[in-house]
Amino acid sequence: MPESHLPIVVVGAGAAGLLAAIFAGGASGQGRRVLLLERTRDGGRKILVSGGGRCNVLPSRLEPARFVTASSPNTLRKMLLSWPIAEQRRFFEEEVGLELVLEPETGKLFPASNSARQVRDGLVALARRRGVEIRFEALMDGLAPGPDGAWSIALRGGGEILAGTVILATGGRSLPGTGSDGLGFELVRGLGHTVHSTYPALTPLTAEPPRHAELAGISLDVTITAPGPGKGLTTRGGFLFTHRGYSGPSVLDVSHLAVRSRLAGGALQPLLVRWTDLDAAAWDQALREGSGTIAGPLRRHLPDRLAEALLAEAGVDAARPLHQLRRDERLRLVELLTRYPLPWTGDEGYRKAEVTGGGVALSEVDPRTLESRLRPGLFLCGEILDAFGPIGGHNFAWAWATGRAAGLGASDHLRLGHSGIE
Ligand SMILES: Cc1cc2nc3c(=O)[nH]c(=O)nc-3n(C[C@H](O)[C@H](O)[C@H](O)COP(=O)(O)OP(=O)(O)OC[C@H]3O[C@@H](n4cnc5c(N)ncnc54)[C@H](O)[C@@H]3O)c2cc1C
Repeated sequence: MPESHLPIVVVGAGAAGLLAAIFAGGASGQGRRVLLLERTRDGGRKILVSGGGRCNVLPSRLEPARFVTASSPNTLRKMLLSWPIAEQRRFFEEEVGLELVLEPETGKLFPASNSARQVRDGLVALARRRGVEIRFEALMDGLAPGPDGAWSIALRGGGEILAGTVILATGGRSLPGTGSDGLGFELVRGLGHTVHSTYPALTPLTAEPPRHAELAGISLDVTITAPGPGKGLTTRGGFLFTHRGYSGPSVLDVSHLAVRSRLAGGALQPLLVRWTDLDAAAWDQALREGSGTIAGPLRRHLPDRLAEALLAEAGVDAARPLHQLRRDERLRLVELLTRYPLPWTGDEGYRKAEVTGGGVALSEVDPRTLESRLRPGLFLCGEILDAFGPIGGHNFAWAWATGRAAGLGASDHLRLGHSGIE
């Protein structure tokens, strides 16, 4: 016997599911009954660990062109821009009650408290104020069409729920410890949906042997170029040497190309690092016209230990006078300073990935309501869909925007009488 008949059931209390439940619930909490099912004890665990515990809630400006999808970029754009950043910000400030502060050097918006917990707890509290019933430690492990156009949701450990509409916000495969282990993909595939190949994205890279382990802890701003079709991809920002390889926003933002080249089994994607703001011509001039030792100009622009490592790799004695630097040595140094081939060999995978690349084909959902085009009454939002953005709050912007659209879409679906359960 089904446990209950409910108009709207949201599965997954992460960023997208919380927003879906809040918007499905209606403005005053007087709307339809909404049940939010979440397998973990408290939900929103990815929000808790985001932004190093500070939660980069939003970017100050959206950059749709930097999103990645195997689906239509135009469809992605429509979904992403359905809720402008200014309105998203107003929602967090006025409805959730969170003051957001801009970090000018990165363009990221953080809560004034710098507390990711405040973001997660604020969203859970708002959902409850809107009348959403939240059931934690409830794992959905089956989803199938039920009687009279309803959906039948099976819970692990027994129990069935019948729902008029279901919003799937089960996330991807990244950081499985937070509750998202890819089960949602299996369920939608079983319902006939196309799931574009998934892969870890925004994940640190590794080097075996770890050539730069002695530089672990050093961070600096760099430019990384991944040569490829067209102009390839260039990322700028923080770079961090780790014990096992390389991390930081510039590495994470280009990591999907590395991961995909590894998975394809062919040549590994070359990644060329320019360690400073100076280009090849500027370095050439600095090394020809400067005075003092060869190490001097490098130390002025780079952390000492990195400068020494690059000089050693170029086979140049750092203590020699600069005017003794031979042409071939100078050219070698300029190349290492501006087009350094990062010796990555692997990646940290889903274990450390911030998001999942690939996912449910965007062509199979209505871009306005996020309703499945294959299965009426089923809505999809967040990381389960085939899209991810760069570091900087873009992935939450995607989760908030698609979650809201799915919540409103499900609510409209019922209002228009498309489901037997009201
Ligand atoms: C370390 C880290 C830092 C990050 N920092 C940022 C940042 O600062 N800014 C930013 O924009 N993005 C950041 N991200 C990315 C961002 O967290 C994700 O894009 C976003 O959380 C995706 O939201 P989602 O709701 O789609 O999926 P998830 O957050 O994964 O939520 C899915 C939820 O569904 C639940 N669930 C799954 N399957 C079931 C089931 N069968 N039954 C019941 N419940 C289920 C899970 O337990 C989980 O709570 C970060 C990610 C990581 C890993």
